[in-house]
Amino acid sequence: MKIMRIIILLAVGMNIAVSQAFDAKNFYKAFDKYRLAPENLMLMRHAFVEQTLHKLCENSDILSMERVGTSVKGRSINMVSFGHGETRLLLWSQMHGNEPTATAALLAVFNYLNNHQDEPFIKQLLDRLSVHIIVMLNPDGAQVFRRRNAMGIDINRDARLLRSPEAQTLKAMKERINPQFGFNLHDMGGRETVGDTKKLLTIALMAPPFNRANEDSPTRVRAKKLVVYLKKILDEFMPGHLARYKADYMPRAFGDAMQNWGVSTVLIESGMHDGSDLHFVERMNFIALFAAFDAIAKDKLEHSDAKEYAAIPLEGPEVFDILISNALICNGDLIRPFRADIGVNRDATLINGRIEYNSSIEDIGDLDITTGLKVINGKNLIVTPGLIVSGTEETEVEKLLERGITTYVTGNGAAEKGKDAVRVRLSGKKILQLKSMPDGKLNLKELPVYTVDAAKAIGLKNTGRLQKEFIADLLIFRQADTGELDFKNLKYVIKNGRIVFP
Ligand SMILES: [Zn+2]
Repeated sequence: MKIMRIIILLAVGMNIAVSQAFDAKNFYKAFDKYRLAPENLMLMRHAFVEQTLHKLCENSDILSMERVGTSVKGRSINMVSFGHGETRLLLWSQMHGNEPTATAALLAVFNYLNNHQDEPFIKQLLDRLSVHIIVMLNPDGAQVFRRRNAMGIDINRDARLLRSPEAQTLKAMKERINPQFGFNLHDMGGRETVGDTKKLLTIALMAPPFNRANEDSPTRVRAKKLVVYLKKILDEFMPGHLARYKADYMPRAFGDAMQNWGVSTVLIESGMHDGSDLHFVERMNFIALFAAFDAIAKDKLEHSDAKEYAAIPLEGPEVFDILISNALICNGDLIRPFRADIGVNRDATLINGRIEYNSSIEDIGDLDITTGLKVINGKNLIVTPGLIVSGTEETEVEKLLERGITTYVTGNGAAEKGKDAVRVRLSGKKILQLKSMPDGKLNLKELPVYTVDAAKAIGLKNTGRLQKEFIADLLIFRQADTGELDFKNLKYVIKNGRIVFP
């Protein structure tokens, strides 16, 4: 009788376990259906997020929304809560305004919860957890897509002094909720790699230290266990692309402070994915968050080994957007051509609500410690700066690019006088008045005439030379035996860090 009862109980228990099991693949597939964020997260501002949260919470049986603070410029800081369990979680996203990935993933999490509230899996989370999520802690930074708040303070260095209202809000929520677990949600630059593998870093995790000696406490061990657990879940979708975030103890930072205050805190840093799935990193956040909720709700961390934490590879060097390896370089100065690698980066910034791209030649030399999102083997190639030309009758952008012209100047004789010169980017517009059009061939010795001198004459800064920190306007030729660069041999034109020809 007793045995029978135990068997029945076991069977019932197993049945529940099966029906309520966390299946990461389901969440992988479900993400697209519940995603609400705009395509380009640079354009996801506070007004959109606030409105979306209102919509999600208004008629929801499980989500509630509360304004818990106000930014320097008066924008609302909102917290979404769900669940009525004993274990309390506090999450905060986008304390750095230009780090929106987790905010986007959270909107999908809320949308999913609303649509699956009757599922046993979700019911169990709601029964066992009380989850509080501050969505977009730094709305003023997000508005202009900058890291810091409107005071110019990095909120993640304000955990001790609490000079910013945003940091005050986060600390106040920590005091009020007294969470056992904390989630510090960020984005990285996006070009980091994993260890020495040269593989792109997609997600970095960390259980931040709570003291300079980098010691363990029960609080931190729990966080380490969660990191180890999450790595196993994410490895299934992105093997080799997860690293341990590299940072020394920073008492000013919230992750470290929370750990010190007894909150088991995990840092999730979103990196980059080099593939066709534009929302892959958001998708990984979505999976990681549900996996974490599940693991905490069901005490799965007891089976996770904190010792494995140290074996997770640290983040490695950054890749370049474009790496041109081992090419012969004619840099626009009158020096002998030399062979080296060139690393080019291109970054987006928000200027008056518009996305603008700025490129630079990031490094020149032996760059074999890393790689590029795009790699050009320069073995039989010559790289020069793009040409700067004033005045010609040519008007077709494609024809200009075929001749290696990445910058042209309008206005009669402006290049000579250095006045009234207008730099116009090649963007498909019609071109007027170009004069000194190079013919089919360009002598290497003449190159500086078209680059350094021209740039100087018209007052252009940081263009016309192939030097570190200069704008990445580059021509890449197939190597010919003669000392000439024949435009028939032009292989690529890079304009402002992007390959625009062919
Ligand atoms: Zn950050």
